[in-house]
Amino acid sequence: MDFHKNDKVVVLSGDNAGTVSRVLQVLTKKDRVIVEKVNFIKRHTKARGQGQQSGIIEKEAPIHFSKLAHFCDHCNRGVRIRVQGTSKSRTRHCVRCDSVITKG
Ligand SMILES: [Zn+2]
Repeated sequence: MDFHKNDKVVVLSGDNAGTVSRVLQVLTKKDRVIVEKVNFIKRHTKARGQGQQSGIIEKEAPIHFSKLAHFCDHCNRGVRIRVQGTSKSRTRHCVRCDSVITKG
């Protein structure tokens, strides 16, 4: 898994397939990623104490990284990436056009 916060990604499968969005959070240990406005789940909450509202809260649920691909602006599609260089100067390249996938 080589997703980072703010990476531009496209959803490959599920209800949100085809959606281009951005990574909000990476859960490395779970191999999951939270993507903005993708995979909303509804949570029913009850008010506990003052100032808290009861009702339904919609929140992004993490999705497995295998359902995501990096989005290449140059190719205008989801692509696989190739990692180049050492850990200190690592760049990620689109396998199709070789352009660098920038960190958001
Ligand atoms: Zn490309």
